[in-house]
Amino acid sequence: MPCRKNPAKVPPGVRLSEDLAGIDYALPGTLTRRYMRCGKPKCRCKANPPVLHGPYSHWTRTVAGKTVTKTLTEEQAGRYQAWFDNARRLREAITQLEATSLRTIENTEGWQPKPEAD
Ligand SMILES: [Zn+2]
Repeated sequence: MPCRKNPAKVPPGVRLSEDLAGIDYALPGTLTRRYMRCGKPKCRCKANPPVLHGPYSHWTRTVAGKTVTKTLTEEQAGRYQAWFDNARRLREAITQLEATSLRTIENTEGWQPKPEAD
């Protein structure tokens, strides 16, 4: 008869905070604000010191493998900033859950993590 181990006992995992459960929207990609130079040779943005244009808010994300950038007005950027913040908090929570789960499955199953190649 084959040797059968007792079923592995898994410790309680990480619970998401109620704060995260209240998230209603999350936008993919990143929102960045940049000051920029234009193409006009005698513009104030070429002066010394330069007076750059902006800030411009650029929403960059990947759609079907391609990078897509959309410029938002300051008003739009302010209105949707929380949705970007929500997505970042969710990504951080998933990263934490995955790290904890990996450590737990390795410990529970007695798997050794792969040694780092040097
Ligand atoms: Zn300019």
